[in-house]
Amino acid sequence: MKKLITNANVFNGTDNKLVENVSVLIEDNLIIKIGDIDPSTADEVIDAKGGTVMPGLIDAHVHITLSGSFDVMDSMTREEMAIRSAKISKEMLMRGFTTCRDVGGNTLGLKNAIDSGYATGPRILPSQAAISQTCGHSDYRQNQAQERLANGHEDSPLMKSGTFKVADGRTEVLRAVREQLFKGASQIKIMAGGGASSTFDPLDTLQYTLDEMKAAVEAASDYGTYVAAHIHTTPAMLRAAEAGVMCFEHATIMDDEIAKIIKDKGIWVVPSYFTASLIAERKIPLPNEETYKKTERVGKAMFKSADLIKKYGIENLAYGTDCVGTSNVHETQMQELGAIEKTFDTITALRMATSNCGRLFEMSTYQHPYQEGKLGQIIEGAYADLLIIDGNPLEGVDCVMSDDAKKVIMKDGEVYKNTL
Ligand SMILES: [Zn+2]
Repeated sequence: MKKLITNANVFNGTDNKLVENVSVLIEDNLIIKIGDIDPSTADEVIDAKGGTVMPGLIDAHVHITLSGSFDVMDSMTREEMAIRSAKISKEMLMRGFTTCRDVGGNTLGLKNAIDSGYATGPRILPSQAAISQTCGHSDYRQNQAQERLANGHEDSPLMKSGTFKVADGRTEVLRAVREQLFKGASQIKIMAGGGASSTFDPLDTLQYTLDEMKAAVEAASDYGTYVAAHIHTTPAMLRAAEAGVMCFEHATIMDDEIAKIIKDKGIWVVPSYFTASLIAERKIPLPNEETYKKTERVGKAMFKSADLIKKYGIENLAYGTDCVGTSNVHETQMQELGAIEKTFDTITALRMATSNCGRLFEMSTYQHPYQEGKLGQIIEGAYADLLIIDGNPLEGVDCVMSDDAKKVIMKDGEVYKNTL
């Protein structure tokens, strides 16, 4: 089956200029040619009417299964979590996100259901359970710590569901990482320091010893993939960089030393400017005053770190929203694009949400579930994951953020929206 998009300009995901007035030929699920193409060679023609073809958006930091507030999730059955997740993933695709990396949640089943057509949603690169130490950011027994510690490691619904996992010491960490790989993780997520939204672990706490982190990195790299770490502070980032962690989630409180190391080692940074500001403005419900204070600190620090990212020319930046909660929280997913444009510039925002994520995901090598084509680019041989926008995204991301201007959403060669 060949589809031809005619009368289009192309933003290829990397270049700061459009390829003007071309056609894009799609065979099944791949882009096979871009240029001047005879329409009679195609089975179906989509007239883009001078709109811009750009890569489908990619979010490198989502938690699709975290579909309610933490206390609600603590009493949710797995079936309810699955049903909510299916809704959230469908809405994500309909916003224009054709791929996401889930960094904490038992999403393999959902991914498989989407890939085989039983559910609608983006491609998912699952991390499976986010792994932390006892009394770490994903030790979700804290609500009733006394009783739950007595009952062992798994006595929390969120831990039983495979959302979070506790492992201590080299041996347990190796096993926990290998278990997630066995369950289909594309990359490994660990918690390498205190959290902002959690009730009990102060931001400045260091979580995981150097040796434990090295164990996680060893088990991941033996399987061809990498470790992404939830991390906020410079001391935690220095330790993680030494251990070989290649992706820093949040990376909020940086100094010059760590910014330079991040640049030199090519470590990826996945900041969340919009969610940070939302939380800091107290627009997302948090458990208590302490968590509000922590998130306010993170929100303010994040913009200082952005200055260091610019100062040291850190280019390994990926789009990540960290939307957690009900479907109306996930609705803010698009706002990050505007927040990045405001913090950096238009092309940085567009690259972060497209080709940069595609490059980041290539670090999963043979754990990468989508190896047939490139992700996040409009080039020959890329997956036919694309949007047709009424407007020029390079002149500002507003047209990408607007539902009306997003005329076509295509994933894997299949059209999910067409209002042309
Ligand atoms: Zn997160």
